[in-house]
Amino acid sequence: MSAQPTRFLTGITPSGTPHLGNYAGMMRPAIAATRTAGCENFYFLADYHALIKTQDPARIHRCTLEIAASWLACGLDPEKVTFYRQSDIPEITELTWFLTCVTGKGLLNRAHAYKAAQDKNHEAGRDLDDGVNAGLFMYPVLMAADILVYNADLVPVGQDQTQHLEIARTIANRFNGIYGDTFTLPAGYVPKAGAKIMSLAEPTKKMSKSDTNANAFVLMTDDKDTIVRKFKRAVTDSDGCVRAAGDKPGVTNLMSIYSVFTGRDYAAIEKEFAGRGYGEFKLA
Ligand code: ATP
Ligand code: MG
Repeated sequence: MSAQPTRFLTGITPSGTPHLGNYAGMMRPAIAATRTAGCENFYFLADYHALIKTQDPARIHRCTLEIAASWLACGLDPEKVTFYRQSDIPEITELTWFLTCVTGKGLLNRAHAYKAAQDKNHEAGRDLDDGVNAGLFMYPVLMAADILVYNADLVPVGQDQTQHLEIARTIANRFNGIYGDTFTLPAGYVPKAGAKIMSLAEPTKKMSKSDTNANAFVLMTDDKDTIVRKFKRAVTDSDGCVRAAGDKPGVTNLMSIYSVFTGRDYAAIEKEFAGRGYGEFKLA
């Protein structure tokens, strides 16, 4: 008997146009996985997740089509991949309720996205849950249902999603413990380079679709001149040396992007640009 195929599953939220971070952290490894023998691929457009951030149906619809087009442009072969829109599979939201009832509220209290919203309110001196919708709080359970409904083995994600994936494992374990062995425990599939591309404008912050500063991200739809302009403006430091270090987040981020597209490691990049300025490095 032949071995069971490894099942890859991943999704992206139509909350805006996909950017370099989405491509490096998730889409590129996910497309590479479709070309690996002995695997099955389930890739989807997470339109219900977009409702947490926008209640504008026309925008979600437009972004869903745009992201579908981006997947195809990246080389997704719809003959090989089960490619779908989350809202077309009602079993996902149905399963969400079953999972909700085995999920401890404390587990969701600790989820990064919810905590970040609370921290922002704390800094602004507002009530901790001010303006936080329950969808943001519940979204790790919807994400668990996305993954568990198809018994996925590996989930291509960027580093920012590894905690939510861990929550999905915890929920699956708990469900299996109560009702018997039902769900496969999923593991993350995180690339070595490009798992967390940072904002070009504020390199201590993740590059995000929902950033309001257009200089923070490079979109997959940006033309060459725009890309060059954004890299030229990218925040660096006054040290002038292409070197990866904790106190050089801007330069380190540019090195990680360069590493994704050239396959070179930091040591090789430092050597390549020794004695050359940031101007040349940014153009490269
Ligand atoms: P939003 O700001 O609306 O949350 P996003 O840019 O974070 O948008 P998502 O749709 O939430 O994009 O994430 C899709 C996939 O891309 C996830 O696997 C996520 O981990 C990955 N990803 C998102 N941003 C980055 C980034 N800056 N670097 C690497 N991977 C990323
Ligand atoms: Mg996100």
